[in-house]
Amino acid sequence: MMKKPTLTALLFSFLFFKAFAQTYTPGQSYFGTNGYVEYLAGNLPIIVTAPHGGLLSPASIPDRDCAGCTTVNDFNTQELARAFAAAVHERTGCWPHVIFNKLHRRKLDANRDLLEAADGNPDAELAWNEFHIFVETAKNQVLPTFGKGFYMDFHGHGHDIQRLELGYLLSQTELQLADNVLDGQTYIKQSSIRHLASNNALELSHSELLRGPLSLGSLLSGRGYPATPSLPDPFPDPDEDYFDGGYNTVRHSSYQFGGRLDGVQIECNRQGVRDSMHNVLRFADSLSVTLLEYLGLHYFGDAAESLCPSDPALPAPPVPDFFDIFPNPYCVHFFVKLTDHAPAGDWVCEVYDFYGNLLKTKPLEQDQTLEIAPRNRENVLVVLRRDGAVAALQAVLQLCR
Ligand SMILES: [Zn+2]
Repeated sequence: MMKKPTLTALLFSFLFFKAFAQTYTPGQSYFGTNGYVEYLAGNLPIIVTAPHGGLLSPASIPDRDCAGCTTVNDFNTQELARAFAAAVHERTGCWPHVIFNKLHRRKLDANRDLLEAADGNPDAELAWNEFHIFVETAKNQVLPTFGKGFYMDFHGHGHDIQRLELGYLLSQTELQLADNVLDGQTYIKQSSIRHLASNNALELSHSELLRGPLSLGSLLSGRGYPATPSLPDPFPDPDEDYFDGGYNTVRHSSYQFGGRLDGVQIECNRQGVRDSMHNVLRFADSLSVTLLEYLGLHYFGDAAESLCPSDPALPAPPVPDFFDIFPNPYCVHFFVKLTDHAPAGDWVCEVYDFYGNLLKTKPLEQDQTLEIAPRNRENVLVVLRRDGAVAALQAVLQLCR
């Protein structure tokens, strides 16, 4: 029997198609439904997310009250991400990709799995999906163009020690291990710089990339921003607070097998970094210089100088045009139809809700127009199969004007 795809697989494929359906102009912002998520499109191999800095608190989304859920925002991290993008642009003329969750953490935690992130609210769930769709969109621009890239998830911590906590998905106990142990495959496989560890220009070891003189932590420390891990502060001591990376770093970094986007969670201390806009701007500028240096050292060598493409608008690959879904968004019902370009085969149309539950399955003949009216009038995912294999996916949003 043919295995049904999981929701994750479906969404991933959907993101793939959606990302290819639009051209994004670097330096311009694009918004998800209700403006809850913002994507500042870029053209450099740098992706940044700011999941805990949103300020919107719409009454239509109840406050999250799940047991043990954190609802406190990371002060000034949205501002930091924006300032970082501006600083990179100032220095290079190009843009990093930045994705903002604009909802307050009371409404959505965009660094958790869906269940904890949205606490069951459909609008928050949609925003969560759109947040990750935009990250995947950015990856779909970065990886085909540059072959690799670097991801940073921006946060702010309230720990006593005023230092940047760089989370590579290695716990503080693991970071206390000797360099030669961290250089073994066991720990490389758990690392968010897994790809870089075996593909870096200077052939540095994993531990050197974590806390050697040319590690991100050491470069930042050298510019006056103490960080751990780094040469001066190679690991957090057992009695010290430390964040080692969360959902986004796991999902979007090269920790995932075969991933080519390395990443780190940057937990910023408050004093001197986030406590005033003056300090935010100063840190954003230092981080931009440091990161560009880092990309030159470990990723692109001298080519780092010319990462800006001559044509800043990257063309979008063509969208397969063998199906039409209209209208989208729909109000009560929508229609699905194969076009003349659709290859012959046994076509089946499946409709899923955003949780991955199959709502409907209908065979689809050439020249036939299927009418679909989801019972709950919700956002759905349409999957077209040809001879059993997924051939196309499209999200269909519900909106009555
Ligand atoms: Zn946070």
